[in-house]
Formats: sequence, C-alpha cells, structure tokens
Amino acid sequence: MSAPFEVRSADVLVIGAGPAGLSAATRLRKLGIANVLVVEREPIGGGIPRHCGHPPFGMREFGRIMTGPAYARRLVDRAVKSGVELLLGCTVVSIDYADDLVVTCASNRGLLTVVAKRAIIATGVRERPRSARLVSGDRPIGVINTGALQEYAYLHKLAPFRRPLIVGTELVSLSSLLTCRKIGAQPVAMIENRNEPSVRPTSMWLPRLLGVPVRYGTHLVDIKGRPRVEGVTLLCPDGRQEDIACDGVLFTGSFKPEASLARSIGLDIDPGTGGPVIDQFARTTEPRIFAAGNILHPVETAGWSWREGRRVGSFVADDLNGRLPAAGHAIRLTPGAGIRYVVPQRIVSGGEGLSNLQMRASDIVSGSLIAQAAGKEICRLPLTSAPERRILAPVAIFQNAKSDITISVEGKTTTDIRSRSTCV
Ligand SMILES: Cc1cc2nc3c(=O)[nH]c(=O)nc-3n(C[C@H](O)[C@H](O)[C@H](O)COP(=O)(O)OP(=O)(O)OC[C@H]3O[C@@H](n4cnc5c(N)ncnc54)[C@H](O)[C@@H]3O)c2cc1C
Repeated sequence: MSAPFEVRSADVLVIGAGPAGLSAATRLRKLGIANVLVVEREPIGGGIPRHCGHPPFGMREFGRIMTGPAYARRLVDRAVKSGVELLLGCTVVSIDYADDLVVTCASNRGLLTVVAKRAIIATGVRERPRSARLVSGDRPIGVINTGALQEYAYLHKLAPFRRPLIVGTELVSLSSLLTCRKIGAQPVAMIENRNEPSVRPTSMWLPRLLGVPVRYGTHLVDIKGRPRVEGVTLLCPDGRQEDIACDGVLFTGSFKPEASLARSIGLDIDPGTGGPVIDQFARTTEPRIFAAGNILHPVETAGWSWREGRRVGSFVADDLNGRLPAAGHAIRLTPGAGIRYVVPQRIVSGGEGLSNLQMRASDIVSGSLIAQAAGKEICRLPLTSAPERRILAPVAIFQNAKSDITISVEGKTTTDIRSRSTCV
C-alpha cells in the first residue's frame, strides 16, 4: 500500500524549528504574511536548546535567563500564538525549484508536498562525529557527541557513561562538563589538539573547579574496548603515547552546518563555512530560497541565531512585497590569508540587508583586517581575535565596491597571544 499523500500551499515554508527558523516565521506573521508553515523533523520544536538543560538562554529574546528547554518552549509558543503553523516529526527531503518551489516532506503520516512562494532553510549545525575526525580503534558503545549526551541526560534521564574523556575545549565542551555533572559522571580529562583552549583562557576555570585535568597539544589516536569503551591512547606533546582508562569518549564542538539538504538541491556551498552561499539579504543562489541561523556559520549562540532569523524574516516579507533589489549581479567576498570564512559571500547593489559581515580567523591574530578589491586596499580595520571568536565588519563599507573583494589578516598570527578578542 502506498503512503498517504497530501499537497498544500504556503506563502513561506521554513525548514527547521530552531531559534532562527521560529523567529523568522514569527516575524513573517507579524509583518502580515498569511500562510507561514514551519516543518521540523524532531517531535519537539525549539531546535538545539530543547536539550540544553542549562542556562543562560533568552536574555535578548525574553529579558530573562532561562534553561534551554524553557527557552525552546517559549519560542514555540510565541510562534504558534502569532499564527505560525508548526508541523513536527516531518523532514524535508527535497526542494524542486525548476519552476514553482515544490518542497517534499516525509513523516510517518505519509508524504507532504508544499508549493511555496519562498522557503527559508534554517537547519542549524551539528558536531563532527568520530568518523569525520578519523579516530581509529574499536567501535565500542559510549562514543558520542555533546548533542547526544544532552538528549540522554535531559530528555531521557539516562547516563551513557561515568568516566568519559572529553575531546575539545569550545564553549559546548564546557557545557558538557555541566551535563556530565548532572548525570553524576566525572570526566577523566579534557584534551585539546591545539596548545591553547578554543574559548577564552579565563573560561577554563570551570574544568579546574570540577577537578577535570585539561591537556593541551594532545591528540586522541585510538579508542579501545568491546562492547563498551575501556580506554584510549593519547599522543602527548612530547611525542609519547599514553593509555588512559575511561568508559566513554565525548567528541565536542568542531561544528559543521547541517547543509545536506542545501547541498543535495544544488545550491552553491561555501567551502569556508560548509553552508550555503548567501547575499546580504540571506538569499541563496536560488533567490526564492533564503537561509538563516547556524547553517550559515559554525557556530553562533541561540540569541544570535534568533536575531538573525528575525532579520531574515523581514527580508523575505520585503521580497514577497517586491521591495528587495534584484538578486542578479553581485560582487563576491572571498577569505584570504588568515581568514577561515566570510558571510555573506555576495553583495548586490541597492540595499544594506544584514548589517555586518561575519568572519572567523584561522588562528590567534593581532594586527589588521584588510579588504582588497582589484589588488587595491579599500579598507583596513584593527583586529585582535582567535579561531572560535566572531569578527564583524559593517556590510555598508563594501556596498559600493565595483569588483570582487578579498578579506585577509595582516599582523602577528601566533598561538602565543592568548588574551583579548575584539569585534571590529
Ligand atoms: C550540541 C550543541 C550544543 C549547543 N549548546 C549551545 C548553548 O548551550 N548555548 C547556545 O547559545 N548555543 C548552543 N549551541 C549552538 C546552537 O546551534 C544555537 O544555540 C541555536 O540552536 C542555533 O539555532 P538554529 O535555528 O540555527 O539551529 P537549530 O537550533 O539547530 O535548529 C535547526 C532545526 O532544524 C531541524 N532540521 C534539520 N534538518 C531538517 C530537515 N531536513 N527537515 C526538517 N527539519 C530539519 C533540526 O531538527 C533542528 O530542530 C549548541 C549547538 C550544539 C550542536
């Protein structure tokens, strides 16, 4: 028997009910767009915060500090109250845009086809799993990412391990320490490939307080155990290999946009971010399909993604009302030496759109951010930053450029500068 099949129409279809998708949808309704449908593959809306059982979420959005699940519920409530229709447990599997925008969704209720005037992809990021990090060894139970740990701990009240090794020192790695504490687990160590933490060094008081040793310049080379993790082999900074006992391995951070849908439908993908290429109005290379949130930039906070989603909702409403400049000719922004990515990657003439370019440096840097067009310097800004810190520069600076722009870093790029981070 074939699955039930339904066809519907929407003014805007939003893919993903995280902070970015929900804020874009709510904004669209507030701006008078009638038929706004959000499709979410999980059975609960709210995106990643729904399983981040810790604060602080919601200051910017609701003026108070909340846990992730409370914040996720508030976002969903606000969207639904504004008239957004939310379809849960429903995954978008393809978008055909040869003619009309035709979005195919699958759920255990059957197939749904939505013919939409516009779509917004807001599918977020995920952490790189073990397979993508090329860590060899056995394939035992107990090797997971932070997202899975949070789901075990906060959604299912389960403890997948008691003495894990934590790989990574990003913000999410620190939050995983709190999740471990919640389930009564005491990590045996936290390791970092680089010689310094990914977060500001001052944030590393947390592992100290919790009695978790942090080892820099250390690589995980082998995982042992069957059927559960029994230990790991580490490569130490002096070249020695050391075996340590543990019953789990937690891979944290090293985020990648959840861009398989964007990729599979043929949108241009930026090799720097791993997400779709957009212009300053968040239009992808198919201008009826927009993108918002962490699919664009690994990785920003929930509050940042929420605010960006709201802006993108306004751009889509403007587009439906014929108020966006044409998407055709654009200058390209490309990362040069010392810059990992630049978003947006294209700028069309005729409007500001997103206020800032967002960038990340490849290394710790102290010097200048330089923009060049046709071999000439058009802008230079002071810069002190590090790989996981946001760098901003006003889009307006680049709006009147006549040719493609390369943005690079000049100055001291070193792993020894550990202190400040400045948004320019
Ligand atoms: C493990 C982890 C922990 C984090 N912890 C924090 C934290 O403590 N604080 C913080 O500020 N930020 C945290 N972040 C960053 C997080 O990405 C942002 O907080 C925020 O959730 C980004 O919002 P978003 O809407 O872009 O994406 P998300 O919140 O990821 O929402 C995307 C949604 O799209 C859905 N989706 C994906 N593909 C499809 C599809 N094909 N069809 C239908 N639905 C789909 C997903 O199920 C998801 O619900 C964390 C990220 C991760 C991965």
